[in-house]
Amino acid sequence: MKIEESKVLFEESREYFPGGVNSPVRAFGSVGGVPVFVKRASGSHIYDEDGNEYIDYVNSWGPSILGHAYGPVVDAVREACLDGLSFGAPTRKELVLGTLIRECMPSMEMMRMVSSGTEAVMSAIRAARGYTGRDKIVKFIGCYHGHSDGLLVKAGSGALTESAPDSAGVPASYIEHTLLARYNDEDSVKKLFSEFPDEIGALVVEPVAANMGLVPPKPGFLEFLREITAKYGAVLIFDEVITGFRMGLGGAQGYYGVVPDMTALGKIAGGGMPMGVYGGKKEIMEVVSPLGKVYQAGTLSGNPIATAAGIATIKTLMEKPEIYPTLEEKAGKLVKALKETLPETWVNQAGSLFSVFFTKDQVVDYDTALASDTVKYGTYFHYLLEHGIYTAPSQFEILFLSAAHTDEDIEKTCGIIKAAAGIIS
Ligand code: PLP
Repeated sequence: MKIEESKVLFEESREYFPGGVNSPVRAFGSVGGVPVFVKRASGSHIYDEDGNEYIDYVNSWGPSILGHAYGPVVDAVREACLDGLSFGAPTRKELVLGTLIRECMPSMEMMRMVSSGTEAVMSAIRAARGYTGRDKIVKFIGCYHGHSDGLLVKAGSGALTESAPDSAGVPASYIEHTLLARYNDEDSVKKLFSEFPDEIGALVVEPVAANMGLVPPKPGFLEFLREITAKYGAVLIFDEVITGFRMGLGGAQGYYGVVPDMTALGKIAGGGMPMGVYGGKKEIMEVVSPLGKVYQAGTLSGNPIATAAGIATIKTLMEKPEIYPTLEEKAGKLVKALKETLPETWVNQAGSLFSVFFTKDQVVDYDTALASDTVKYGTYFHYLLEHGIYTAPSQFEILFLSAAHTDEDIEKTCGIIKAAAGIIS
């Protein structure tokens, strides 16, 4: 495969952007090689600067559930652009999007729009702290909630209560109130609540962990989180930036039937444009300014182009609910191919979300995910790329399907996965 143009662009980009990219995982750091520079995308396919075509399972990391450049979404964006790009004043479109979101997720009684998933989770936590008057929060090792300082806590550290920053530039004092628990481990959560019964303001969780590869919640785990947070008066925040509108119109909370106090959304909610939303119980959201004393604002919040894309996307999903079982079925076919053909791997699936770990042991949390052979993953990744399948350039990311993936795409991918098995020893 020729990637000469990507090589030139990457070399030049390295002069301008750290690592040549504007978000780290795009640099192919953990799999090696040169990232392909994308020129355009349509449906389930992306095309690079050298004219190579790939079936895309990165899907912009989740937003493009209807496929790239989906007609009604592009039309809505085009139309909105003609009326002006940003006003810094309230619009009808924000109200329409808010209405649709609440219809799908009734737990979001009141909400606020922001411009990214990072902002959504960061602001939800601020509101929860303001509401409870408590500083401490619980997060799970291996869950990612964006790059706000207080949530960039080193995963996998020894003692659960001993947090250390995951990133240089985050003072230890910024994360002193971030307590770490183990995903799918009830005892680790109980321990924190019994140690700090009156100090924990919020517990934030990806209801399906999707940033250490895919790790579904064990049966009863989300119900347990619901119960223990209610018992101790802490706000339960579901980070549904990935799962929102992906596991169904009601997100993971609808899928599993567990209702959080607050929810953070991003990705699909903006239909591929920069968007985040946080919201939840009215009495909690009423602490947010200008009603309450928790300050949070944004020049581009509720942006008319992003809201237009979000409305068109969610309306389509509401009109075509059959998209969800179809996505799940396609995921099932790929999962079957992975399980049947790749030696010594573990595959997790929840709804249409899935990922393959290069370890033969069951993966239930961060530690078990880390047992994966990342070198083997790199070999597998490059084989797929060479054969026209664009998948996550990291062992610890998941695959995203769109409604635009055809049976032919899936068949072709299954065949290449099968062939890949032959080169992985
Ligand atoms: N929360 C989760 C679960 C995510 O997966 C991500 C990003 O992938 C974020 C938050 C941060 O969202 P953003 O990248 O839009 O800031």
